[in-house]
Amino acid sequence: MLEERHHVLAGAIEGGGTKFVCAVGSGPHDLSRTEFPTGDNPIRVLAQVTNWLSEQQRERGDLQAIGIGSFGPLDLHSNSPAYGYITSTPKPGWRNTDVMGAVRRAFPNIPIGFDTDVNAAALGEYFWGNATGLSDFVYVTIGTGIGAGGVAGRQLIHGLVHPEMGHMLIPRVSGDTFAGACQYHGACWEGLCSGPALLRRSGMPAETIPPGHEAWVLETQYIAYAVANITCMLSPQRVIIGGGVRKAGRLGQDQFFRLIGEKTQAALNGYIASPALREEIENYIVPPHLGDNAGICGALALAQIALNDL
Ligand code: ADP
Ligand code: ZN
Repeated sequence: MLEERHHVLAGAIEGGGTKFVCAVGSGPHDLSRTEFPTGDNPIRVLAQVTNWLSEQQRERGDLQAIGIGSFGPLDLHSNSPAYGYITSTPKPGWRNTDVMGAVRRAFPNIPIGFDTDVNAAALGEYFWGNATGLSDFVYVTIGTGIGAGGVAGRQLIHGLVHPEMGHMLIPRVSGDTFAGACQYHGACWEGLCSGPALLRRSGMPAETIPPGHEAWVLETQYIAYAVANITCMLSPQRVIIGGGVRKAGRLGQDQFFRLIGEKTQAALNGYIASPALREEIENYIVPPHLGDNAGICGALALAQIALNDL
C-alpha cells in the first residue's frame, strides 16, 4: 500500500530523454532543484547527478532516501540481475545502463526507490496533486513520447515489465493516412499523438499549430480513443494527462481537455454507468495539479515510499 511520510529530507532524480532533473527536499513546496542534459554518456550525467546530490547533502543535511523515476524500458524486478537498469532503449549510449547502481554506489547506506518516470509522476499526483485519496487512477504523459503509469487498488501497476500504454493500438479515423511516428509500430498511440507525430503530421511544432487545424481534430480524437480504452481496461477513477503536448499551444489547454472529454464520452457512448463519465467528464480527465513538476515530485514520493518499505 502506498503511504506517505512527511518532512523527510530526500533526494529525487527524474531521468528524461532530454534532461535529468534532480531535487532535494521534503515536498513540492520545499524543493531545491537543478538539471543536466541527458546526452549520450550515462556515466557522465549520473556522476553529475550524484555529485550534485552530495553537495546538497553537505549543505542541507543527510538525505534519508533517494527516489529515481526514469525513462525506460526498465527492469523493475528486485530479484533480477538487471534490477535498476534501463534495458532495451533505442536512445544512443543508454542501452543496459545501471542507473540505480550508480546512485547506490554514491549513497550506499540509504534506501533507493526506482520506477518509471510515469509511475513516479502518478505518485506525485497521488501524494500532492489531483489524485489524492484515489485508489485507482492513471497518469499519462504526452510529450516526445507517450507513457502512462497507474495505481490500481492503491498499488503502482508493474506486472510483467511495466505498462506501455503509449504503444496501444487504436482505431484509425477513416481517411487518415498518416503512417505514424513510432519506430516499432508506426501508428500506435504514440506514433499518432506524440509531439514529434504532430510535427510530422502538420509540418509544424505542436506549439504553433493553429486552433482550427485538422491535426488537433485527429489528436483529440485519438487521445479520446486511448482514454476510452484505458477506462474500459482499468476502470480508473480519474485520468491525468500531463506532458508538453497537453498545453496544446495555440489551441489552449482548456479547449484541448474539453474536446478530449466530449470525444471520450462519444466513444464510450454511455456504456460505463458512472456519473464521473456521464456528468463530470471535466473532473475525470484533468491536467496534473503539479504541472511540469509531477515527475520530480513523484521521484521524491518514491524516496519516501522506499523509506517506509524498510
Ligand atoms: P519530454 O517528453 O521530452 O520530457 P515534453 O513533455 O515537454 O518533454 O514534450 C515535448 C513535446 O511537447 C514537443 O514535441 C513539443 O512540441 C511539445 N510541446 C511543448 N510545449 C508545448 C505547448 N505549449 N503546446 C503544445 N505542445 C508543446
Ligand atoms: Zn509504438
